[in-house]
Amino acid sequence: MSEQNILLKVENLKMHFPAESTWFGKPTKFVKAVDGIDFQIESGKTFGLVGESGCGKTTAGKCVLRIYEPTEGSIYYQGTDISKITESQLKPYRRSIQLIFQDPYGSLDPRQSVGSIVREAVLADGKKKAEADVKARIEELLTLVELDPSMAGRYPHEMSGGQRQRLGIARALACEPKLIVCDEPVSALDVSIQAQIINLFESLQEKLGLTYLFIAHDLAVVRHIADTIAVMYLGHIVEMMDAGELYANPCHPYTKALLSAVPVTDYYTEQKRSRIVLEGEVPSPIHAPSGCPFHPRCRHAADLCKTQMPPLVDQGGGHFVACHNY
Ligand code: SF4
Repeated sequence: MSEQNILLKVENLKMHFPAESTWFGKPTKFVKAVDGIDFQIESGKTFGLVGESGCGKTTAGKCVLRIYEPTEGSIYYQGTDISKITESQLKPYRRSIQLIFQDPYGSLDPRQSVGSIVREAVLADGKKKAEADVKARIEELLTLVELDPSMAGRYPHEMSGGQRQRLGIARALACEPKLIVCDEPVSALDVSIQAQIINLFESLQEKLGLTYLFIAHDLAVVRHIADTIAVMYLGHIVEMMDAGELYANPCHPYTKALLSAVPVTDYYTEQKRSRIVLEGEVPSPIHAPSGCPFHPRCRHAADLCKTQMPPLVDQGGGHFVACHNY
């Protein structure tokens, strides 16, 4: 991957939230939601960030959007470290990096019509525009997300879940973004609608050259859209590689367990597969285990795993694994 093509580069990103403090307000314990992650996304590509709830993937996305101020680390967007700049310097980046929510209904004002929701986004840059141009742009955006422009007069409660998510996408596209952080954008939808929205994301990427940071808990969803996938566990990336390689050759015990839970459409393959059931719960990030964060649930854990954190190492061909066994 050439440096020039990299749209987003995240280095040693940490987001620690104070969890307990002294009488004087000095924090004594932290929730280490994200604890030193590195990744980069090539322009026009999709990077999937996957893991169970509480692994830190959404927090990482919110840091990229500067909804959270990272505790440590750098976020380079087109070569500029946007983690350190002021709110006024951030303004142009705010339009260029957009967010698509998990729950489109929760993010849409129920009192606003479809047309006025998109209009608001079209006018958000503060530039003067002729009414005819605004109307044409609203129509263009609705068509782009495969909604009939005649729906402009409807309200969000009159739409299906899939239509509402399309509206959320139209609103994000109004700002002409380069990077879209998609936070579980299909997990609230029926499976058949999920496929339609994933296809829409793909066709928009082709048409508009968009780059996605695609956050999901479900590997089955990400496999269809991502070029590169990183698996997160307790604030750390434990495995990262090309999407095809991840499904053909998963190395980390946690990734293997996650993959074993993804249903396979072929009946005979499904019959031959054995499911890896993980024991116990994800530990609290306030009391994260020493050494490898996965060791209390790992069937291969050795003494070393309990004391030493395995580094994320390239095992060859850009396949990164954080495990003492590799
Ligand atoms: Fe399991 Fe040890 Fe590898 Fe962690 S480092 S995943 S505990 S084998």
